[in-house]
Amino acid sequence: MATELPDWVRLQKALSVEAQRGYTDLQGNEYRFSEFLQVSLEAPPGNLLSADLRRWQSMAAQFGSYAQLTQQQREELVTDARKFLLDMERVCSSDRTSRNSEGRKPRQHRLVADSQAPVAQPIKATSASDNGTAANLSLDGGLTQLVGPRNAARLGKLGLYTLYDVLYYFPRDHIDYARQANIKELEPGETVTVVGKVKRCDCFTSPRNKKLSILNVVLKDNTGQIKLSRFFAGRHSSRGWQEMQKRMYPIGAIVAASGLVKKSKYGISLDNPQLEVLDDGSTIASMNVGRVVPVYSLTEGVSADLVRKAVKSALPATELLPDPLPAKLREKYGLLELPTAIAQIHFPEDRTMCEEARRRLVFDEFFYLQLGLLHRRQGQKQAQTSAVLAAQGELIENFYQLLPFKLTNAQQRVIGEIIADLAKPEPMNRLIQGDVGAGKTVVAVVAMLAAIQAGYQAALMAPTEVLAEQHYKKLVSWFNLLHLPVELLTGSTKTAKRKQILPQLETGELPVLVGTHALIQDPVNFHKLGLIVIDEQHRFGVGQRAKLQQKGEAPHVMTMTATPIPRTLALTLHGDLDVSQIDELPPGRQGIQTSVLSGKDRKQAYELIRREVAQGRQVYVVLPLIEESEKLDLKSAIEEYQRLQDVVFPEFTVGLLHGRMSSAEKEAAIGSFRDGETQIIVSTTVVEVGVDVPNATVMLIENAERFGLSQLHQLRGRVGRGADKSYCILMTHPKATSDARQRLNVMEQSQDGFLIAEMDMRLRGPGQVLGTRQSGLPDFALASLVEDQEILVLARDAAEKAIAKDATLDRWPLLKVELENRYQRLLGGAIMT
Ligand code: ADP
Ligand code: MG
Repeated sequence: MATELPDWVRLQKALSVEAQRGYTDLQGNEYRFSEFLQVSLEAPPGNLLSADLRRWQSMAAQFGSYAQLTQQQREELVTDARKFLLDMERVCSSDRTSRNSEGRKPRQHRLVADSQAPVAQPIKATSASDNGTAANLSLDGGLTQLVGPRNAARLGKLGLYTLYDVLYYFPRDHIDYARQANIKELEPGETVTVVGKVKRCDCFTSPRNKKLSILNVVLKDNTGQIKLSRFFAGRHSSRGWQEMQKRMYPIGAIVAASGLVKKSKYGISLDNPQLEVLDDGSTIASMNVGRVVPVYSLTEGVSADLVRKAVKSALPATELLPDPLPAKLREKYGLLELPTAIAQIHFPEDRTMCEEARRRLVFDEFFYLQLGLLHRRQGQKQAQTSAVLAAQGELIENFYQLLPFKLTNAQQRVIGEIIADLAKPEPMNRLIQGDVGAGKTVVAVVAMLAAIQAGYQAALMAPTEVLAEQHYKKLVSWFNLLHLPVELLTGSTKTAKRKQILPQLETGELPVLVGTHALIQDPVNFHKLGLIVIDEQHRFGVGQRAKLQQKGEAPHVMTMTATPIPRTLALTLHGDLDVSQIDELPPGRQGIQTSVLSGKDRKQAYELIRREVAQGRQVYVVLPLIEESEKLDLKSAIEEYQRLQDVVFPEFTVGLLHGRMSSAEKEAAIGSFRDGETQIIVSTTVVEVGVDVPNATVMLIENAERFGLSQLHQLRGRVGRGADKSYCILMTHPKATSDARQRLNVMEQSQDGFLIAEMDMRLRGPGQVLGTRQSGLPDFALASLVEDQEILVLARDAAEKAIAKDATLDRWPLLKVELENRYQRLLGGAIMT
């Protein structure tokens, strides 16, 4: 059998997504990234000659051991593979079509003509583009027909291979030349485009930093002149590169510069402006003059004009795009037709059309994702049968009797939602969001008791030993009274203890197990696992959750998080989960008095601490990660600890807690804080997760400006857990900007985790809020989770309605196909299926 050519586009996409996600060996629906690469590279194209073939095979093998590579090695391999595959693709396709037609040197080892290869697209002599006919275009067609082979290869660097790719390569902005600003009238704070003639241009190495190149361009229009600077770090510092930059902006050339107007002591300028040569003085680029012009993200060797030209000539092919959205739905939500939207997003008639086009395309991005998530959830529900866990029973009743308090309305509501889920033969997959202290543990216990009552086992998994231990202690205190055994299993559980726990788990004698990742390891087998509770679920990967799920037969899963996230994020990330919110704190909790102080008020803060400790209360002092290096962080934590103990509070006992301690040391540190032996604990952010000491009333956070608001909220939640008035002091560094201080004021004004998360997202962007490590956010081309909440809600609504109408989606065949393409692309990892 002849080997088929690999799917270059998918390969490149997988590689580029992996690179974007920081080389995490992304998990797709079916494969991990590395597996996908291995599988795809398994059969090299038919007739590679020896050197290429060897390289190909060695690359495939390296992806086989990707998991063992360091971050750096992964990066190198991926970068290498991207280049190599681009080369191979060019070789393979030029062999079939325009071999040597672009005057490339013949390759030394030539491919033998491949008779199985698809017939080359005929290259049209005339350009189909401007007379607006799609007759000889095809969406899957390559770009050679539009821009010639050499340019087509250049566009490959942007991941653009087909007309479809180009049509969906949306501009990141538009420049409205009709509305450009005059240089003399610029006001700081506006984002503008100015167009002017280059008066001077220079590019040189920064006198202060050898690795930095500075490009200065002075532009002049009829009203005045402006000096624009751009800074390039790293490999751009060579002399040759600088000369090339200078040549790009020759004196007299007409350049458009866009960016945010800023004012400094050197006068008015634009912040990191985007520069584009409109006219090098010889020709007028007519496409761009006097209208709204798209601005695309570019890369080395691909010019703005090339992308525009490709898009322009691909536009007639929009006619070929079917619109998968049913007309009714389009009308209901007031959306443009797809071909119009695509055409208008690139070259809009005016601002309004541009916005309408964007609205339609953003809707699409959200809609297919929501549809995919809901479709997947529906599929899971139907595919698996779970145990029906009786909700009524004396265990739960007895537990309620034991509680020294009445459940809040929110707790009762959420328990109701969970119990309804457990009574169904489809697996529950529910996320419980609730602010710190909202009482999630009680809710989890009720669910566990339901499982036990029905004769099943329950497991609770927490991300750290500290947290697992705390859950364990709490559960023991309640379960003992109910005469139910509970055990704890973590990495530091002694062998003897393990040997005792594991058999009891297998026989079912042990109904509840609490633990860390240790739970998902191999020798751990349950008798009948009916319910899994995962705390701080965002700290676990999808794989780890799945592993625990495999320990039972379609067990119900309940995840909990004390990190409320804004609704847009929740829908995007967890659209396939049911979400419950415990949005009410138990009564009698006092607000935590929060103040933002700067360094000079330190004395005041220490006085408060002294007063509180003297009254028998306890204090947290939290230090942020200051340096990139763990060693330095450790040093700063230790130094601060010593300073507080020896100099500031010699009369009190100060403790230390940091991430590099062994878990026994950590447990000892937390234990003595919990027991009240330690009065002040100096800690890195390891306390963030779940440490519960109700007697602690002061939380002092150093360099608070370095934290995100959501994280500060988490930290603040460590105090105010008892009946006493509590305080949170956000100490800012003397050098913190006023912006940073202002951001912290949100903390003074609000205690509502959901609101704070929303502010945090607006201020820092969704990726930062989630933390870069595990964000898992899809790559939207246009949609913004901050700006487009309204459209997301509409899209979710539309998706829910569609699924309710026909969960198979069979009545909309086009929609179904589009969903498959889109959803997978959107989720990145899913392309590896
Ligand atoms: P979290 O949601 O942060 O996990 P916990 O479940 O740890 O919160 O509860 C915080 C504290 O509040 C615990 O000491 C718990 O016993 C107590 N608590 C929970 N629910 C209530 C309630 N309805 N009334 C009073 N106290 C409660
Ligand atoms: Mg908790």
